[in-house]
Amino acid sequence: MESPVRAKARAARIAATLADWYPDDVHTALEWRNPLQLLVSTILSAQATDVKVNQVAPALYARFPDAAALAAAPIEDVETLVRETGFFRNKARSIKGCALGLVERHGGEVPRTLDELVELPGVGRKTANVVLWNCFEVPGIVVDTHVIRVSGRLGLTVHAEAERIEIDLMALLPKDEWAPFCNRLTYLGRRVCSARMPRHSECRLLGDCPAGQAQT
Ligand code: SF4
Repeated sequence: MESPVRAKARAARIAATLADWYPDDVHTALEWRNPLQLLVSTILSAQATDVKVNQVAPALYARFPDAAALAAAPIEDVETLVRETGFFRNKARSIKGCALGLVERHGGEVPRTLDELVELPGVGRKTANVVLWNCFEVPGIVVDTHVIRVSGRLGLTVHAEAERIEIDLMALLPKDEWAPFCNRLTYLGRRVCSARMPRHSECRLLGDCPAGQAQT
């Protein structure tokens, strides 16, 4: 069992290596022009690639440009516009519910606190933290499917639940590292540490990665 001091030191080395490897990848790959767009695009990104969301979302925002328009949009129209991202009925319902919550509780604006964001329909901690960091520079741990997988392989957590992983990473890293670290971990998961074929021999984290060392 790794001591807390050694775990923090290893996490700091991993963060430094990732920062050197992916210096510019500190923000989401989702494209957005205002906080509402990022909020909706993050809802759309569940079980969909950022590339697909970036293809689909502009037509939605052109047709329904603000929270009031989205809240009043016919659900069938929203479903049609977001269909290609998958789970389109649930997503359309979440988007409309979220927009209605913004109109009724926040004057149509996206709030800037985690507590307010997660009270909106369809908005979980991951979505809230994506918006808070990317739009308002509020630090947070964004735990997506890549962060779950890669942080486990790196031995930074023994948990599989997003909220437990969030707590573990918060304890290991300084606050200003939280969001950049998670973004870089996501990029690593997409490019090198994939679910099916992690390329350990090409990975600059191999020296600090128990899973990688066990496989090589
Ligand atoms: S060494 Fe392998 S398992 Fe570890 S982070 Fe790199 S690719 Fe993933």
